[in-house]
Amino acid sequence: MIMTHHISLKNKEVIIFDLDGTVVHLVADWMSLKKKLVDMYKKIYNEDCSFDSVSACLSNIVEKSDFDILENFFDIIRQYEVDNIEENKPIEETIFFINNLELFGVKNNTKLAILSLNTRLTIIESLKLADVLDKFNYLVGREDVRKWKPDPEGIYKIQDHFGIKKEEMIYFGDLKKDVLTGNNAGIEAYFIDDLIRLVNKKKIN
Ligand SMILES: [Mg+2]
Repeated sequence: MIMTHHISLKNKEVIIFDLDGTVVHLVADWMSLKKKLVDMYKKIYNEDCSFDSVSACLSNIVEKSDFDILENFFDIIRQYEVDNIEENKPIEETIFFINNLELFGVKNNTKLAILSLNTRLTIIESLKLADVLDKFNYLVGREDVRKWKPDPEGIYKIQDHFGIKKEEMIYFGDLKKDVLTGNNAGIEAYFIDDLIRLVNKKKIN
């Protein structure tokens, strides 16, 4: 049985989305990127870091306070992410939602934001390609935090930016990590599939 969670949108000031798998599907060579990052890390520190979790390795670099090196890693990630950016596939239902907020009981002045582990350029270019960049008021990408999901830093950054309460925010993502990020920040969080079901129901009716 499929459960449709009760998503309450009408009291929200800010709706936050993850990017990849939530608003668009990115097409990047993640395997080659990870290999490149592993090699770079090994060369610089003469120790191994498993880039199964890119964030965990970047956290090591933050702990060492090697912020120039961190920027170099961001550069590589950005380069791989935008390499095939034109092949991005927008997620139809999410884009429909973003373009038709009023159909879902969202208030007129509700703002949209992105919290993603992808780089800012990737977020901007992806939203541009999906023709929704102008719908978004605030973007938090890989470079904008020093603790990555599921750490709640990105959510707090968005909260600070808008000066709103936790109960006025909601986060949608495609991974458990995203929902966990929302939980860790103490805000409502759902899988994008829940929203997609809501959109498809609305489209049929
Ligand atoms: Mg995602």
